[in-house]
Amino acid sequence: MTSVFTRIVRGELPAFKLYEDDLTLAFLDINPAARGHTLVIAKPELPGLLDLPPELVAATALTTQRVARAIVAALQPDGFNIIQNNGAAAGQVVFHFHVHIIPRWDGDRSVKLWRPGTATADDLQVVASEIIAHI
Ligand code: AMP
Repeated sequence: MTSVFTRIVRGELPAFKLYEDDLTLAFLDINPAARGHTLVIAKPELPGLLDLPPELVAATALTTQRVARAIVAALQPDGFNIIQNNGAAAGQVVFHFHVHIIPRWDGDRSVKLWRPGTATADDLQVVASEIIAHI
């Protein structure tokens, strides 16, 4: 199925485009969490981070930094979040790789990503070992 973002890449749907190169495209989110909320996509329709070949990981990271720099210069936020959802459980709705750049202003409370939990040193050691075994 063709994603909504592929249709933007093809020019079949409108978007407020900010930057484009051969591999990436940046445009404003249609339902922004904040003024200037931007999406950076990989042009090929790949669902998530783990599906990207190295050149697309690099290209989307570079475009994210480039556009974030422009957002900071233009809008002068107090900070910004970089968010990249993978899977429905993580809140992904459009299954075409994209990075959110969300400008933040002191006290805006527009994004809260997690509730801090607790873990023992043993818990941390066990999960660290599980992950390290796959690196
Ligand atoms: P995610 O939950 O990470 O999959 O986020 C998908 C994002 O895409 C949401 O923030 C939507 O507001 C945004 N979105 C969906 N359709 C469009 C569109 N046609 N133009 C711009 N942003 C869109």
